[in-house]
Amino acid sequence: MQHILEAITSGTATAEDFAALEVPASYRAATVHQDEVDVFDGMESKEKDPRKSLHVDDVPLPDLGPGEALVAVMASAINYNTVWTSIFEPLPTFAFLQRYGRLSPLAKRHDLPYHIVGSDLSGVVLKTGLGVHTWKPGDEVVAHCLSVELEGPDGHNDTMMDPEQRIWGFETNFGGLAEIALVKSNQLMPKAAHLTWEEAASPGLVNSTAYRQLVSRNGAGMKQGDNVLIWGASGGLGGFATQYALNGGAVPVCVVSSEEKAEICRRMGAELIINRSEKDYRFWKDEQTADPKEWRRFGSDIRELTGGEDVDIVFEHPGRETFGASVYAARKGGTIVTCASTTGYLHEYDNRYLWMNLKRIIGSHFANYRESWEANRLIAKGMIHPTLSRSYPLDEVGQAAYDVHHNLHQGKVGVLCLAPEEGLGVRDEETRARHLDAINAFRGV
Ligand code: NAP
Repeated sequence: MQHILEAITSGTATAEDFAALEVPASYRAATVHQDEVDVFDGMESKEKDPRKSLHVDDVPLPDLGPGEALVAVMASAINYNTVWTSIFEPLPTFAFLQRYGRLSPLAKRHDLPYHIVGSDLSGVVLKTGLGVHTWKPGDEVVAHCLSVELEGPDGHNDTMMDPEQRIWGFETNFGGLAEIALVKSNQLMPKAAHLTWEEAASPGLVNSTAYRQLVSRNGAGMKQGDNVLIWGASGGLGGFATQYALNGGAVPVCVVSSEEKAEICRRMGAELIINRSEKDYRFWKDEQTADPKEWRRFGSDIRELTGGEDVDIVFEHPGRETFGASVYAARKGGTIVTCASTTGYLHEYDNRYLWMNLKRIIGSHFANYRESWEANRLIAKGMIHPTLSRSYPLDEVGQAAYDVHHNLHQGKVGVLCLAPEEGLGVRDEETRARHLDAINAFRGV
């Protein structure tokens, strides 16, 4: 692997040099093992420890198929989907791999007794399969995580609607938390030249998701002046939702759980911030009984910040814990847009607040090809910034996932794969210098 790293860091290797590089027969990768899926049986979610289930193994290089690329991964990042995979909730991801494997002989490669996880990467193209013309060895890239087949018409307007839509590195194998990754070539996008490898790898999944959920017409279609309530406003998704609201002339109302996170939101430029720990909202009297009085207290705290206005959009993902409050807090005609249920899938809300006030609930999931490209373009232009707070070496991927599982992190947690240290990969120092404060907003708080 050293010769690949040398070619990448030399700055002088040509496409021909990269094409001539020998690709190793095996590589190191973060995996979960099929024979360990029941190790946490009987435990509470929070007791399930990703440091026990995530391994770093030497794995064989998969064969390269048509339309695919092998990428030398310099850095990756932790997404919550790797937390779900590593604690085997809501179900072990091997069922996804088996189902995918039944699709075709090519897809069968993914059905293995180990799952190489990770849905983000930055790195360099090593090899491309038949039919790949746009990308070539040596290209510096990031990858979005939408894997589709597009053989039927359903996904032709919006690639997220493809019946064979999968999240790479979660519902497919050969993900990004590894020294080499296998992707479909249409997942590839240019790496932002002003960012380090670990910064460039970190926005991918959450940036695209927040873009569709909040900005795209497929999501909430946010417009100038909208008040946007953002749960976890300095977290993985929320750190981008806050930036999109500010960038698009909207007014983010940021909910966070500590003064440190409130400070991050201020650094991004947000002014209206609710510290949910200080406020100590108790939206549930007990596990089964919601407390509308607490929804009203929350609503009046929001109005106090906005000068009496309700929010046009609620950016939802905590799920059961907050959903009743979110439906209540949206203004008449407002939108609650949800992409997750971290605290529980079975939501409860008072439907009178929804129908009498003509509110809408919209489901959103990742982003289509075009939305992913647009979200990445904004990163590359320095209009949206990575939210990286710290990085771990690949060997400590379990700890990195543990931090996210226990909400000990800010923004995004990076993982160095082939990159031997942080800070490498910047090709455009001038643009970087212009945006350095924003790029560093999540560090050292
Ligand atoms: P994250 O980095 O952990 O951020 C989530 C934030 O939510 C936390 O930082 C926390 O912020 C807040 N939060 C946690 N528990 C809460 C509670 N009980 N009440 C209110 N706020 C709470 O995770 P993420 O990357 O943003 O992902 C969040 C969820 O979205 C996960 O379930 C993930 O699987 C899902 N997701 C879905 C998609 C999709 O395409 N459908 C894409 C990305 C992520 P504070 O502590 O500051 O309040």
